Amino acid sequence: MKGIKNLSQIITLEGVHKKGGRRPLRGDLCIIENGSIVFDEDKILWVGSQKNIPKEYENIPFIDGSGHILTPEVVDSHTHLVFGGNRAREYGMRLDGADYQEIANAGGGILSSMKMTNEASFNELFESAKERIKKIHSYGVGTIEIKSGYGLNIEKEIECSRVIKKLKEFFSPQIQIFSTFMPAHAIPKTWSSPQKYMEDVVYPATEQAAKEKLFDAIDIFHEEGYFGSKITKEYLEWCQSKDFAIKMHVDEFNDNGGAEMAHNYKALSADHLLCVGKRGIKALSKSDTIATILPGTGFFLGKNQAPAKELIEQGAKLSIASDYNPGSCHCDNLILIASLAAPQLKLNLAEVWTGITYNAAASLGLTKQGVLVKGFRPRFSLFRAKIIDEITYNWGHNLANSDLLAQAFS
Ligand SMILES: [Zn+2]
Repeated sequence: MKGIKNLSQIITLEGVHKKGGRRPLRGDLCIIENGSIVFDEDKILWVGSQKNIPKEYENIPFIDGSGHILTPEVVDSHTHLVFGGNRAREYGMRLDGADYQEIANAGGGILSSMKMTNEASFNELFESAKERIKKIHSYGVGTIEIKSGYGLNIEKEIECSRVIKKLKEFFSPQIQIFSTFMPAHAIPKTWSSPQKYMEDVVYPATEQAAKEKLFDAIDIFHEEGYFGSKITKEYLEWCQSKDFAIKMHVDEFNDNGGAEMAHNYKALSADHLLCVGKRGIKALSKSDTIATILPGTGFFLGKNQAPAKELIEQGAKLSIASDYNPGSCHCDNLILIASLAAPQLKLNLAEVWTGITYNAAASLGLTKQGVLVKGFRPRFSLFRAKIIDEITYNWGHNLANSDLLAQAFS
C-alpha cells in the first residue's frame, strides 16, 4: 500500500465518468484541492482532501507530491511508432510545394516507410521504438497504442508485431502497451488489386498473428481507392466472427461512411474523422465507439481539422491522440498536440483532459482506468503545476514528472 500526499490538485474526472465521457464541462473534472491518494498495486483505495486522510492510512508510506497535480493517466491511443528510417526529405519537398505524385515519384510516401521498415532488423526496430516510447513516457503518457502496418507483407507484419510484444513485456507494468495489427494500412504496388492483397496478405497474416496472440485489436485504413467499403466490411465481419476487437481509420480524405461502419461493427474507435459528415456524426453521437481525432496530422499537413466540437455537442465520446508516424505527423508529444488543439478546435479543458485520459483509455477497451475514484486502477500522470490550466497553458514545455511517479510505485 502506498500514497501520494500534498498534491496541489487531484483531477478525479468523477463527473466525466458519471456522464460516460460525453459533453464534459469543467465541473466534471471534480478537482480536489490539496489532496491525497492511497492505492495498492491494483486499485485506488482512497482519494480525498489532505486533511481527511482516514486513520487507517495515516502511517503508510507517502510520497510528497507538493507542487504537483495528479491526473488520470494520459493515454496515447493512436500511434504508428514502429518504423524504419524517416521521411524528413519528403516533408521538405512538401513545404517546397511538391504534390503527392512528385513525392511518390521521388520515392516518398507510406511505401517508402514500408521499404525502410523492411530493411530494418528486428533489433533495430525494437531499439528505435524503445527510445521513442521512453520519450513519450517523459511527457506523462503512461499507456501507448502501437500499430503495425509498415511491413505490408506477412513476414514483416508478424515481425513488427513481435517487436510490439517485446516492447510490451519490456515496459510492463510501468508503461502499458496496446498492440494493434494493421496489415490493411496501404497496398504495395506489387499487388494487382486490394482484393488480392487482402486474400494473400491481410487474412493469412491476421490468422497467424492471432495464433501467436500478437494483438489486442485490428485496424483497417477504410477509404475508397485504398480499402473500400466492400473489402472493409468483409474483413470486419470476419474479424467479428473471431471476436477480434476492431479499430478503424475512417473519413480522412472523404466522407466514406466510415464512422457509421465503425459504429455498426462495434469498433472500439473511429479515428481521423476529418471529413465525417452528418450521418457519421449522428452514428457516433449515441455510440460507445470513441470518436478519436488526430489534430497533429492536420497541423503537420496544413489540412482542415475534424469537427470536434460538433461531435461533442451531438454527444459523441471524443478522444485525442497523436497519430505519431514518420510521414503525416512526426510529433510524439500528445500534450503539445492537445495544447494546440484546444484553441484551434474550440475545446474546453474538460474536453481536452477527457480526450487524452478517460475516453482515450476507453478507445482501448480500458474501462477500469481514466478516473481517480476508489476501486479504479492506480494509473496516473503527475505534472509540476499548481492548477490544471497551467499544463496546456505552458504549451511546448514538458511539466510531467515521470521520475516522481516511478518513485510512487517503487
Ligand atoms: Zn493512423
